[in-house]
Amino acid sequence: MKIAVGGFQHETNTFAPSKADFQAFAKGGAWPALSRGAEVFEVLAGVNLPCAGFIEEARAGGHQLVPLSWAAATPSAHVTTDAFERIAGQILEDLKAASGLDGLYLDLHGAMVTERHEDGEGELLRRIRDLVGPDLPLVVSLDLHANVTPAMVELSDALVAYRTYPHVDMAVTGGRAYRLLATLMGGRKLAKARRALPFLIPLTSGCSLIEPAQSLYDSLGERESLPGVASLSFSAGFSPADIWHCGPSVVAYGEDPAATARAAAELEQAVLAEEAAFAGTIMSAEQAVAHAIAVSGKARRPVVLADTQDNPGAGGNGDTVGLLAELVRQRAPRAVIGLIFDPVAAERAHAAGEGATLEIGLGAHSGLAGHAPLQGAYRVKKLGDGKFECTGPFYRGARMALGPMALLELGGVEVAVASKKAQLADREMLRHLGVDPEDRGIVAVKSSVHFRADFQPIAEQVVVAAAPGPNPVDHLQLDYRLLRPGVRLMPSGPLSTGPKA
Ligand SMILES: [Zn+2]
Repeated sequence: MKIAVGGFQHETNTFAPSKADFQAFAKGGAWPALSRGAEVFEVLAGVNLPCAGFIEEARAGGHQLVPLSWAAATPSAHVTTDAFERIAGQILEDLKAASGLDGLYLDLHGAMVTERHEDGEGELLRRIRDLVGPDLPLVVSLDLHANVTPAMVELSDALVAYRTYPHVDMAVTGGRAYRLLATLMGGRKLAKARRALPFLIPLTSGCSLIEPAQSLYDSLGERESLPGVASLSFSAGFSPADIWHCGPSVVAYGEDPAATARAAAELEQAVLAEEAAFAGTIMSAEQAVAHAIAVSGKARRPVVLADTQDNPGAGGNGDTVGLLAELVRQRAPRAVIGLIFDPVAAERAHAAGEGATLEIGLGAHSGLAGHAPLQGAYRVKKLGDGKFECTGPFYRGARMALGPMALLELGGVEVAVASKKAQLADREMLRHLGVDPEDRGIVAVKSSVHFRADFQPIAEQVVVAAAPGPNPVDHLQLDYRLLRPGVRLMPSGPLSTGPKA
């Protein structure tokens, strides 16, 4: 069989400070830069990404693959119209040129909002369907944080989402998408069911390493093995997206429409039964640092602090300095924090050299109201070129190019600075600057959950800290203007009132 493969991923935090323009995709973030044609195979080889898993399994199945484009940018505010039109345009152009296709697979995130389209994936799929027609089997893999819309369900034959957060099963999910596509190409038809849940889940409590998410995700395999059911997905949704269809959802596929609808409804009920448990707990930056100092003084392993409200994996700029300032203020011993996105500071550190001292204001250059750079005399401890390969379960195989990096020190606290935004979710990001995180007392990471894949195994404790940042854990702080009415903004919390003028 002849299968076209491509991908276009963006997770859009509509409240975030900066947009994703074409350059953001052309350069790429932590994941590979925009690629097209045969290059797609090269850049994705061995990487924990859905498209890579799909390619591997489809090749093993003996199919001929037609590479389209693959693109991803670091999560941020809206994808610009220019970026969307150019990337969607090249996917459509290559699809048009391909003849005799038996199937199509797309690696999408499911939470893309563009300047013009609230449902970026829905719009892309609409254009693709217009081109290929309603009969070409089309399977899409989605991030666990997809805001799955009715259009996405309608315009594809099947959607399949990750089941782990940290997303250690991205490549595995691509393999699951392949098996569904193989089923469809074999001539079987699948019924669909979608259920939207009426409450938003905070990013930090959707982690599949902790309850209640763990048991819910663990139950999917058994639920989809029922007769007549082929695939079941639970997307936790991506809350900081002010769109009508924001929120968690369940999608099911199967040959028996009644069994498929029942599986979706039962999973929906199981999620609803755990609503209160999804609220989670967090500490202020001040509390979190004090707690970490107390615990790490008696422990041999580090306390890991998640600076979740500036997680660049969810639209933060990775440059707020509230948690750093708190670590310095409380004189936290053996503490390291990263990655602070500040290309100017990194460049100055490289110009000055190791051992030099810089009088600078670090971070907070993205112009967020109420944030200011942290002024001080920073000592340059170590420099790096930002090029290394990740080894942890989440970023496994990803070849990083974070530009000039530097390990600075202020008031005894080490700060890992990078020239590109990236979520600190792999220990190599610190080792690159000579820091063995296992040897530190406190390791503060700009990440919400993905860091757990590589850091939880070495952590005495993981604490979620709510330092000031653009991605509040408490959705009541977000000014939703487009979200549909009747959605509880936090688990068991107050209801959204519907679109505002
Ligand atoms: Zn995600």
